Amino acid sequence: MKSLGLLPPLRDILSRYDLWARKALGQHFLCDLNLTRRIAELAGDLSGCTVFEIGPGPGGLTRALAQTEAKSVIAIEKDSRFIPALQEVVEASEGKVSLIEGDALAVDLLSLAPPPRAIVSNLPYNVGTELLLGWLKNAEAFRSMTLMSQAEVVGRICAAPGGKAYGRLSVLSQFCCDVQKVLSVPAAAFTPPPKVDSAVVRLTPRADRPGDVRLEALEKVTACAFGQRRKMLRSSLKPLGGEALLKKAGIDPTLRAEALSVAQFETLTRLV
Ligand code: SAM
Repeated sequence: MKSLGLLPPLRDILSRYDLWARKALGQHFLCDLNLTRRIAELAGDLSGCTVFEIGPGPGGLTRALAQTEAKSVIAIEKDSRFIPALQEVVEASEGKVSLIEGDALAVDLLSLAPPPRAIVSNLPYNVGTELLLGWLKNAEAFRSMTLMSQAEVVGRICAAPGGKAYGRLSVLSQFCCDVQKVLSVPAAAFTPPPKVDSAVVRLTPRADRPGDVRLEALEKVTACAFGQRRKMLRSSLKPLGGEALLKKAGIDPTLRAEALSVAQFETLTRLV
């Protein structure tokens, strides 16, 4: 795919198509093609996969993904201003990249391509967590999800029990997937630079996920426990059985939600 290498630099694309960043759509662009190549590499084995890229923007990461072993790349962009610029990438990719103009929150990825599938995205900051929580419902449908977001959000996804960062997003992510922070990216790497640094996390479906714990039930337990995270569990979990439930699970009812491991949340969920 020689012609991908002949595309103009991304800064030229931004100025040629007058693509200024819209804050409301969480737009911060990566113009360094070495960095986008690195992110595509960090996604690991994409061979044979249909890769979904959410929010391709000017197409820096899209170019890198088109040059991986993936079978195809489906890029979903909400902002129609980017479509003409992205069309250049589609053409240069000789059919490997296709484009959907629309809101990724409303797109059912599973209906678009059979397995193997993967997601690689520099997430729109404003809806990144919502998108991830949706994909977790079918985590096993994806070989991997490699996601860039604010460093603080990646910290929450990967957090261990005991700290402030550990919460509902940590438990749900780590129940469904093995999670690993694979890259830190300073704010200065983006155009325009956001206020905070970013990071890349890779999530792969857990092979040892217990089959007898339902994600919907775990969602309820974690909503209750972390909804009032400063309270003791005997009080925050009252609607689900409170002290009696915790005793059955062998968990000290005076603990707070942030002290429980993912395995302890699984135990509670089995009993609810
Ligand atoms: N991938 C590009 C890059 O790395 O330079 C742009 C990343 S920028 C952080 C997020 C992108 O997501 C923007 O292009 C924005 O228009 C797009 N976006 C925002 N909300 C979206 C949504 N709900 N569905 C699809 N794309 C969305």
